[in-house]
Amino acid sequence: MNTEAMANRIAADIARYGSVNAPRPHCVDCTRKHLGQAIVLLQESLHGYPLHVWLAIGHMAEAEAEIEGIYPDLAKVIRGARKQVEVDVKNIPNLLEIIHLVTQREDGNASGCGLGTCGV
Ligand SMILES: [Zn+2]
Repeated sequence: MNTEAMANRIAADIARYGSVNAPRPHCVDCTRKHLGQAIVLLQESLHGYPLHVWLAIGHMAEAEAEIEGIYPDLAKVIRGARKQVEVDVKNIPNLLEIIHLVTQREDGNASGCGLGTCGV
């Protein structure tokens, strides 16, 4: 993320949250990280670790929060997938497809990980 993009993101957080102490920086890389972790945990939930579905649901909620301030429509897609699992833990969404959607959308200015600003 370049300096101008970072300044814009800080300004957006101030406008939205009233301070630079926003709940968290928004980051597409962290979104993908949480979705990837959810994929692993959902697979584990089907193979002997049923309670891991709740860990996956938690990661999906984190993914929603990470991307909500950048691409709110994609946050809704992730939320829909999370709700799908919450209704039926055997109804596993295709989260790799959502990772693909996030990757297609990314414009190069949405990731905070390049400078380590989001703590990844
Ligand atoms: Zn990040």
